[in-house]
Amino acid sequence: MLSADFLALPQAELHLHLEGSLQLETVRALAAKYGAPVSAQDILQRYAYRDFLEFIETFKWVSSLLRAPEDFALALHGLGEQLLAQNVVYAEVTLSVGVMLLRHQSPEKNFEAILAAAESLRSRGLQLNFVFDAVRQFGAEAAMKVVEAAERCSSKSIVAFGIGGDELSIPAKEFRAVYEKAGIIGLHRLMHAGEVGGPEEIRQAIELLGAERVGHGIAAVRDPSLMDLLAERRIPLEICPQSNIRTGALAKQLELSAAQIEQHPLPSLFRHGIPVVLSTDDPAMFHSDLRSEYENARRMGLQEEELKQITKMSFEYAFINEDDKAALQRVQRATSALR
Ligand SMILES: [Zn+2]
Repeated sequence: MLSADFLALPQAELHLHLEGSLQLETVRALAAKYGAPVSAQDILQRYAYRDFLEFIETFKWVSSLLRAPEDFALALHGLGEQLLAQNVVYAEVTLSVGVMLLRHQSPEKNFEAILAAAESLRSRGLQLNFVFDAVRQFGAEAAMKVVEAAERCSSKSIVAFGIGGDELSIPAKEFRAVYEKAGIIGLHRLMHAGEVGGPEEIRQAIELLGAERVGHGIAAVRDPSLMDLLAERRIPLEICPQSNIRTGALAKQLELSAAQIEQHPLPSLFRHGIPVVLSTDDPAMFHSDLRSEYENARRMGLQEEELKQITKMSFEYAFINEDDKAALQRVQRATSALR
């Protein structure tokens, strides 16, 4: 059990997909709006996966219900409420702009609605920034269009570009020019790697694409020299334990038919000196929230002092300007000192 002291700490969350945060009621409301009503039972069935590709299918289905700018605003409001309820004061929200473009939506209009929703959350003590995400299996050309959309939106709230999806589909090197362009327009660089793929995916994301944080990266535990590199260069892994169980990613890395949360490599990675930030990935789809992920980390054997260090890192490795970071860290320190 986490102590009341720990639960009172302000939190930050850095790996969180808007599309994966839609609670049952929101999904039902959107499905009804678009003339294909579903029951809670139907949704729960879709939210149970046997493997990573089944999860991607469900992610596609939920994304298909986000059609108009106001749907995205509704989704962000829902996510904001969940974060505020957990004492989260800062989050980086990933938007699947690759999917918006595939569906011929306007990322500019969607983002305008999202930004307006974010503004109202800010007044309630939650600061949000955004990651424009491309889908790996859609290819480099489609990924470049995501970077171009970020450039057109031209907002200081878009802090990073990333790629998610099926990391085994297309080699990292194909995305070199895309990441170069993202860097040129001032975006930080992220990539999902070493989730279902091997350690070499992580190495390539860092060496070839300049990834500054790695989404998941649990495969690193299979490669001691890569663990050294992550620790030396201070490249954080965005660890999402429940996601790794539900998608079967952890079982795949461990070459088991099923894996338990206690087998997660988070403690080994963290105690090797690799920066770690703890996140939920797709909280609604994985039936998790940030607090339960910290509970999971505790069940893996991490001490509460170590969890506090991880919380601190979520602020330290956030993509925010130094003034905002200092202000958030002051809130964090003040709360820690009171406890
Ligand atoms: Zn993710």
